[in-house]
This record gives sequence, C-alpha cells and structure tokens, in this order.
Amino acid sequence: MRFDELARAYERLEATSKRLEMRATLVELIRPIRPPDLAKVLYLSQGMLRPEYEGVELGVADSLARRAIATATGVPEPEVVRRTKASGDLGTTAGELLDAARRGEPERPLSVANVYAELMAVAEAKGPGSQETKVGTLVDLLGRASPIEGKYLVRFVLGTLRVGVREMTILDALSVAFADGSKAARTRIEAAFNLSSDLGLVAGALVEHGVDGLDAIGLEVGRPIRPMLAEREPTLAAVLERMGGTAALEFKYDGLRVQAHVAVDGRVTLFSRRLENISLQFPELLADLPHAVTRRPCIVEGECVPIDLDTGDIQPFQLVSKRRGRKYDLEQAQVDLPVRLFLFDVLLDAGTPTYSRPFPERRAALEALVRPNDHVALAAQRVVTTVEEATAFLDEAISAGGEGVMAKSVKEGSAYRAGARGYWWIKYKRDYTVGLSDSIDGVVVGAFHGRGRRAGKFGAFLLATYDPKRDRFETFTKVGSGFDDAQLAEMPGRLARFATDTPPSGVESGIVPDRWFRPGLVIEVRGAELTVSPIHRAEVGAVRAGAGLALRFPRFTGRFRDDKGPTEATTSHELLEMYRKQVRQEAASDDTAGDDRA
Ligand code: ATP
Repeated sequence: MRFDELARAYERLEATSKRLEMRATLVELIRPIRPPDLAKVLYLSQGMLRPEYEGVELGVADSLARRAIATATGVPEPEVVRRTKASGDLGTTAGELLDAARRGEPERPLSVANVYAELMAVAEAKGPGSQETKVGTLVDLLGRASPIEGKYLVRFVLGTLRVGVREMTILDALSVAFADGSKAARTRIEAAFNLSSDLGLVAGALVEHGVDGLDAIGLEVGRPIRPMLAEREPTLAAVLERMGGTAALEFKYDGLRVQAHVAVDGRVTLFSRRLENISLQFPELLADLPHAVTRRPCIVEGECVPIDLDTGDIQPFQLVSKRRGRKYDLEQAQVDLPVRLFLFDVLLDAGTPTYSRPFPERRAALEALVRPNDHVALAAQRVVTTVEEATAFLDEAISAGGEGVMAKSVKEGSAYRAGARGYWWIKYKRDYTVGLSDSIDGVVVGAFHGRGRRAGKFGAFLLATYDPKRDRFETFTKVGSGFDDAQLAEMPGRLARFATDTPPSGVESGIVPDRWFRPGLVIEVRGAELTVSPIHRAEVGAVRAGAGLALRFPRFTGRFRDDKGPTEATTSHELLEMYRKQVRQEAASDDTAGDDRA
C-alpha cells in the first residue's frame, strides 16, 4: 500500500468530527488492505507503532524534527521555526516547505511498509549516537515524501497526529469492513480485543479466519488483558439487592491496580490499569511473585498498596504514587516505601484460562495458587447475605486502611468480563453516604489564565467526561481549587504535548478556554453536587433539553490519574448515574426530614 493513500485518508479523517463519517472513511481505507500492512495501518492511525502496552516510543523531540525538516528541505532552521510560529504546527510547515522545495520533481512513492520500517528504526535507535541515527532516518524519509506525506509523517513522529481515531471507532470499522457489521460480530471483535489488547492481532485474525477465527485468540503471558471494571451503588442494601441477595465482599484497597504475568521460567511482567508495562517500578514484586504462586504460567490481578512491613499496616496511597515513574534509586524505594500486592483475581492458572469461570471458582483457584509472603497477599474476602454482615465487613475494611468494599457477584455468569464495566462488580466507598458520592476522573481539555496570585500561570482547567458511544469528550466543570503551588506549576509541563491552537476534534464544550488541549491528561476531582447546566455538555438533553450536567464547587483531589488514558476517564453516562443517585438520595432525605418534623 502507498503511504500517500494513508495520508489522504488522514486528511479526510481530520476534516470530520462525526463518528459515522469517520467510520465510513476508515472502512474505505482498510477494506482493501491485507496483513501485514493492515496491522501497521491500524497502529499508525492511532499514533503508535505497536500495541500500546509494548510502550514503543519514537523519542523524537520538536528540535530533532526541526533539524530533520531543515536538512531535508535545505531551509535554514530559524526559518523553519519562524514558519512554525505562523502555522502553529511543525507538520504543516514541513508540508509547505516540501511543496516549495519539490515543485515539478517526479514522484517517488513511499509505501506504508517502507515508512513503518524506517519509523521502527527511529524508535529502536538507543544510546550514544542515536539522535544522529534518528535525524538521518527522518531526513531520508522526508527527502522522499510528498508534501502531504511529510505533513503527516512529522505529526506522527511528534505524537500530534490529530486524526482522532480511537479504539472503539476502529472496532466499528473492522466489523463493517471484514464482517457483516452486525452487533454480534462487533461484540466478538471487541471481546477478542479485550483479551489481547492488540488491534493489529485482532484485525489479522479476522481477515484471515473470519469472526470464528477470533476464538483462537487466547491469553498469552506478557500480553495484558483489558481490566474488568465496577459499577457503583449508593447503599449496601442496593449492592446486595443488585447481586441477588448474596455477594462476595472484598476490602477495596486504595492503591495501584496491577496485572501480574508470571511466565513458566518465573519471569514477571507487571501492567498498570492502562496496560503500561510497569515491571521496573516494583523489583520486590518481580522477586517475590514467582515464589508466591504454586503454579506457572499464571496471570493474576491485584491492588498494590504501600505497607509498613513491621506492622502489616496499609499506608496512604500517596506513597505508592511516588514510586511510579521513578527510574532512580529503586533499591532504596523498596526499603523506604515497600508495597504489598493484594491479589483479587486469577485469569490464567497453570497455563489454563480461568477468566470465563464463575467468580467463586476463580477465587478458590486463587486461594490454591497463592502462597502469601511479605509482598504478596490475598484480598480479604467474606461472602455476605445481609446488610448487617455487609456493614460489619465495611467497618473492618475501613479500619484496616481500605477505602471501602468491592462487591463481587457469585452468580453462575460471574465470569471475568475483560474491558467491561458492569454490575458484576460494585464498588462502595464509605463516603458514598454523604453528599456527592464518588470522585470524578476528568480529562483536561482547556485551561484559563490565572489572575491575582496566579497571574502568569494557568488558574483553572476545563474538564470533560468521555462518552464512549459517541466517542466524544464533553465538558462538565471548570476547576481551579485544590491545586497547591507545586501542582499548579506542574500543569503546563504535563499539558504541553496536548496543546493545540484550535478546538480539539472530539471535544464538545460550551465555553472557550484561553488554551485548548487535546484529551490526554486525566485528573481526579470531587465536588459538592451535580447540577443541570446550560453551559456544559455532558449528557446534553438527558435531564433537560439543551442542558448538560455540571459539577458544582469542584476541587482537585491532588491525584493525577496517570494510570488512566483519556478514554478511561469517568464517562458521561456515569455522571448521569451519579446525578440520578444524588436526586434519589435528596428525595429520600427530604422524606426523612418530613418524618422528623411529624
Ligand atoms: P474504575 O477502575 O472503576 O474506572 P477508578 O480507577 O477511579 O475507577 P475506583 O473507582 O476507586 O477506581 O475503583 C475501582 C478500582 O478499585 C479497581 O480498578 C481496582 O484498582 C481497585 N480495587 C481495590 N481493591 C479491589 C478489589 N478487592 N477488587 C477489585 N478491585 C479493587
């Protein structure tokens, strides 16, 4: 396949924000492609070279790309800089300069396979001299690129490809392009993706063996499974009712979710909730996990929390977050901030997949599999049938340093539902009983200049929830409180790579901030209550025509959700559910107040 066909499709994708149009363009693009190009096109279109969990990064900074453009076009670097200031985007500048440099020259087409191989070489260049290798490879590519190809190549290497195709849209397109487009086919394609986290692999199997061929995609040690997620209920009574009267309650530990893969030879790979490979962060788990499991290979899941090894007491979550992204002094971190992984599920046991078995069977397998040690333990669990029992267990969880309980269905159908949120798991935190239940993970899509003490900095941020059905980010609040000076100072750096001069595609907002950001950074906020707002766009029309949902008196909790990507933020639908629960609670407390007065 020629690379300019891909570039032209990107141009069309960029021009639309309508999911259906996007899907149609994608279908048209991918239908004629076959493996191995297909996987490459899918990864490239998401701004990646390999599935996200492999963490392959190009390591190309703006300065490096500028140098490559200058060399490839023969235009001095200061001129490249000047033009980029005017165009606002290095990709556009590259396109313009290539256009001027190459007028009238014959075309020498690049293929997707060529481009992909060269970009892989850029990513793989490491160590001394690697910068020169990267620039050299880019110069070579740009030297052969047409203006439109150059534009998208540069955007790709800088991570600013704005075509906005997300996983769910690609899954839609796959089901139309390579299956019958039915809901059933779409569900099976998504299920294969949830188990493998690799769209390239799924697409390849689909094209070569049809929808039935997807069943052959199983679990593999070293390849993460997309996590099963929980719903909420406002009371323990509601939790029990939803679960049909019996539930397995577990302590809800407040830490980092970790999926641990232990290979036959004892090699351990750890993945975060967003499937990043975080193995290097926790050497004590790499050392202890192989001894803590009696059968290999296996895949287990748990929550990693800081612990006082002398007393066995759980420590505040903030300590474990300090260990994330920490590349130095890991030995010392192990001593200063030790962690314990509380395991709550098993997906592969002695090489046999267990994820489709009912939860009680998985728990029994987990108990048989795990031999607890200093750094590995089982999540505390009790099966309860009454609100009294549930409340007593909640009290135990809180006093042991948990933030609440996780209720798990024990019904026949209680399989592990990779990548899905449902009532098979229900989270219940103590503070659900007062005010607005849960915290909200919002995606930063804009920022406002500060005033007074915050002059010259950002003073507030525009946050959005995610709507997976429409693949849209919808604003719900503007948050300025809760940030300390250090966190505020950190924000521009954290947001820099998402900055864009125009409203980002896929974002719906009733307010225009001073700066726009493409959805990337997720932060946790709490607020006093949810209201209906004419300005905000979350779940517009669900409660009142033309109005969205908004969070009043929002406050940053201090927690950056680096373990969540933008599409894993709180969804607009969750916000609506929270709103409805709040309304029900208000109605209930009005009734009680009435009783008191009587
Ligand atoms: P979510 O993961 O549901 O999107 P979140 O990351 O904001 O939301 P919470 O709302 O606090 O997290 O609750 C879910 C998380 O609780 C799980 O993803 C997991 O990391 C954690 N957790 C702690 N204890 C358990 C347990 N016993 N079983 C399952 N999950 C647990």
